Amino acid sequence: MRELLSKYYKLLEEIKSLKGIVALLSWDQENQMPPLAVSSRAKQRGLIEKLVHQKLTSSDYIKIVFELNSKKELLNSIDSRSVSISNKEIIKSLKLPSDFVEEFANLKSKTQQAWIDAKTNEDFKLYQPLLEEMFEYTRRYAAYIDDSKPIYDVLLDDYEEGMTTNKLHKIFKELKTNLKEILKKVKAKESSHVFTSSIFEKNKTEKLIKEITNKLGFNYAKGVLGDVHHPFETKISNEDVRINVKYSEHDLAFTLTGAIHELGHGLYEQNISHKYEHTAFSEGASLTIHESQSRLLENMIGRSKEFWEFFFPVITNYYPELKNFTYEDATNDLNIIKSTFIRTEADEITYNLHIILRFEIELMILNKEIDIKDLPQVWNNKMEELLGIRPVNLSEGCLQDVHWSIGAIGYFPTYSLGNLASAQLWHKFKNDNLDFKNKFKKGDFSSYFNWFKNNIWQYGSLYTSEEFLNNSTDEPLVAKYLIEYIKEKYL
Ligand SMILES: [Zn+2]
Repeated sequence: MRELLSKYYKLLEEIKSLKGIVALLSWDQENQMPPLAVSSRAKQRGLIEKLVHQKLTSSDYIKIVFELNSKKELLNSIDSRSVSISNKEIIKSLKLPSDFVEEFANLKSKTQQAWIDAKTNEDFKLYQPLLEEMFEYTRRYAAYIDDSKPIYDVLLDDYEEGMTTNKLHKIFKELKTNLKEILKKVKAKESSHVFTSSIFEKNKTEKLIKEITNKLGFNYAKGVLGDVHHPFETKISNEDVRINVKYSEHDLAFTLTGAIHELGHGLYEQNISHKYEHTAFSEGASLTIHESQSRLLENMIGRSKEFWEFFFPVITNYYPELKNFTYEDATNDLNIIKSTFIRTEADEITYNLHIILRFEIELMILNKEIDIKDLPQVWNNKMEELLGIRPVNLSEGCLQDVHWSIGAIGYFPTYSLGNLASAQLWHKFKNDNLDFKNKFKKGDFSSYFNWFKNNIWQYGSLYTSEEFLNNSTDEPLVAKYLIEYIKEKYL
């Protein structure tokens, strides 16, 4: 048994190393790579990805995982969880015919290009036939994986183990009713334009972000701050976590909230215990819990008065022209509630209504209750129903997100689930750390760092989201904490 386990972990380490190389190649492509290197880089990436696939589907590896999985009761809980994850991954990949995998991959790149063309030309017809095909392939994908389950349940399981359409319906119904009510009652606030009042040079902002991220616990001995077109976080290895920022010279709030969001993901990845480094769960893989960590730092902490009481004076060291404003002005500007068309720019309340809109539409398309050709209309009607505004063009409407064009159908709900989990964990954190506000004001964020390291980060994805929440809050995921948090903050 011991020999089998050590062979398994050796192969797993090779697979993880190759995946790390792929991640490094794409990070470099976003950050540094000269534009003419696109096709040589695609070849390099393709080669390494092929090696990953070969390792994952090699008879050697499959045999070892299957054998260990059949004797799981003899393994300790850590090895058993790791083997289960690897086993599930193999079973899924074996269910998909290789022709299908290749066709689906091609369809994804063609559809993404069609989405870009349709968006540029404001012409839905350029996208419609490929999007139809994309949903059809998604239905086929779900049938290959498990045709006894509802399609959407199969898709959800790829992103959020254990989540079902029924559970989502229940949670989203409560959320939708409450948020629509709250939205009607929130008073309109004027912006002081703190974060758009000057030109914010990249070099200075970068130093500022280094100072903020350092203070919150990001370890630059095993981390990098990157500069990209779309913010993201990526992990090359356990000692190399990269948070990537999109700099705006005109909107400092955009740059900072994006950086703080990615920092939340980065802190999680940087603080997974060494004990689990070798396992299949040495990454924060559960999307709900991962997103809960970024949203919690971005919203509950990064938009709070205490945070700005400490950090606003720091910002004025870099940008003395902001001394005309107060930290209250800054907090005010970061918490303005207003219905807008674009999901990624939405506030804490309307963001979730954007997600519910997408969830309801995805389900209708998959169940063939609506025709894709009617999507722009259906989208606009739903937006009017949920947010009280109607897009006038496609880029502000149904063409704004890349997700469907790359086959990420069933993914959107995890954003809102992350928000719900963040509020639930935040509630528990506050109960356990009654004095946190006074400490935050003085720039002491250790209570935050330690609580989340102990309760979440150190475990990677040893637990599912549901288990994480049950372990640290004694409840499964519920809507009430986000609703309470929003009511307390905005009403
Ligand atoms: Zn995120």
